Amino acid sequence: MVRRVAVVGAGVSGLAATKCCLEEGLEPTCFEQSENVGGLWYYTDQAEEGRASIYRTVFTNSCKEMMCYSDFPFPDDHPNYMHNARLQHYICKYAEHFDLLRHIRFKTLVTKVKKRPDFSVTGQWEVVTRRDGKEETAVFDAVMVCSGHHVYPNLPLAEFPGIQKFKGSYFHSREYKEPEKFRGKKVLVIGLGNSGCDIAVELSTVASQVYLSSRSGSWVMSRVWDNGYPWDMLVITRFRTWLGNILPRAISDWLYVRGMNRFFKHENFGLMPLDRTSRKEPVFNDDLPSRIACGVVVMKPNVKEFRETSVLFQDGTVQDDVDVVVFATGYSYSYPFMEDDSIIKCRDNQVTLYKGIVPPRLEKPTLAVIGLVQSLGPIIPTADLQCRWAVKVFQGRWLGKCWMKGYFLFMGSSLSQHTTLQTDYVTYMDELASAIGVKPNVLKLLLTDPQLALKVFFGPCSPYQFRLVGPGKWSGARKAILTQWDRTLQ
Ligand code: FAD
Repeated sequence: MVRRVAVVGAGVSGLAATKCCLEEGLEPTCFEQSENVGGLWYYTDQAEEGRASIYRTVFTNSCKEMMCYSDFPFPDDHPNYMHNARLQHYICKYAEHFDLLRHIRFKTLVTKVKKRPDFSVTGQWEVVTRRDGKEETAVFDAVMVCSGHHVYPNLPLAEFPGIQKFKGSYFHSREYKEPEKFRGKKVLVIGLGNSGCDIAVELSTVASQVYLSSRSGSWVMSRVWDNGYPWDMLVITRFRTWLGNILPRAISDWLYVRGMNRFFKHENFGLMPLDRTSRKEPVFNDDLPSRIACGVVVMKPNVKEFRETSVLFQDGTVQDDVDVVVFATGYSYSYPFMEDDSIIKCRDNQVTLYKGIVPPRLEKPTLAVIGLVQSLGPIIPTADLQCRWAVKVFQGRWLGKCWMKGYFLFMGSSLSQHTTLQTDYVTYMDELASAIGVKPNVLKLLLTDPQLALKVFFGPCSPYQFRLVGPGKWSGARKAILTQWDRTLQ
């Protein structure tokens, strides 16, 4: 019987995990190395080791109705997209509202998580923590890894010949906080992800020139979509997902590319993705196209070589007198506290997890990795549902029967299918929700509550949909769905 659960980290995933455990009658202990909740959204002026670090001006790219916890909507007066400080405030309110703080041990670093010798029978873990230099070891029945995946910089310097000769300064985007010290400088930003675009746009207001280098292009979307509504409330719907699944691939690809090019033609801006139809996570930036149009950000292909003060690009062009290079080259997954890190296999950023949560090679399913799956959807509701699913798995209520039949079923075809980290939001959420009995049944709703059914199917797939029925049902879910557009307009 799982009773005591260790939660590593008190970011949005760790808080969801702690709450879920409490709701299911388990005893969570959440270990957080910093002195506050919020993880990535808890801004500090200095990057802290082992914790994600953001720049001062990070805003969310998921809107408030789509990115809230499924039973805790944002206040009406919050803007649709939020500055990190506002989101952090909401996260703190969530922790207070559900009385989570007393289950969190702050300033406590998890240094080791290892299987107990009798793991194959008990599924238990030994968790070693350090606080004020003092080590403590405790035994837990299950572990929820909520340590984040924007922590360990991916800085592939070996792929950039000549970087050692370069006389300017260079650093990873994790170190970037604000633009002022780059006033008047010529800056090259490498990487067309969300951070790279944000940083290039922000620096373009003070730098003498910004170059943005991209290896393979990217779709750049605006937060403000058709008629000014939030992009995600229009794009992430059950109807669109259903359409995408029934249309022939060629037509759905054509519609996708057309949709992405609706505001500007990416190829005219040097942004066109090499793989046009890949559903890889787009970049959200409302200002980048106009900064390119104004010439303050200049798009460049991949870097071929660094020289002492200049940079040679793949297309043969050279930019002289570059002062600073920002490597916005993303992050690597790492779990330094796992004694055997092959449990959560990390090779070339590849992780194998059943449903994107449970390592498939464990004899007992008592370890869950939360918040690692990436979809074109918000992380908070995803993590929330993952936790609800994982806790059921721990308790053996859902996976239990298969597990009881033995190891072979687990290693066999039905359970060893690999979920890639990139997945479709609605499909993924429905898969988890079905497994634990919280997926809304649209046809049934059509007969019993047609007004709600239409909102659920054609409207935004907002998190409240997963609190309408089943375990963890929230009495406010129906009203929250019917009033989501009112809060958006307010
Ligand atoms: P984190 O927020 O990284 O929290 C992990 C916590 O674990 C930290 O507090 C850390 O201190 C703690 N920890 C780690 N290791 C240990 C240890 N060994 N012992 C004790 N404590 C430990 N997602 C969205 O859905 N919408 C957005 O708009 C959005 N914008 C983003 C913008 C940027 C710039 C970035 C980088 C990411 C963005 N994301 C966004 C994704 C983001 O990762 C998630 O929003 C979310 O913060 C992930 O939460 P988490 O709890 O999983 O991890």
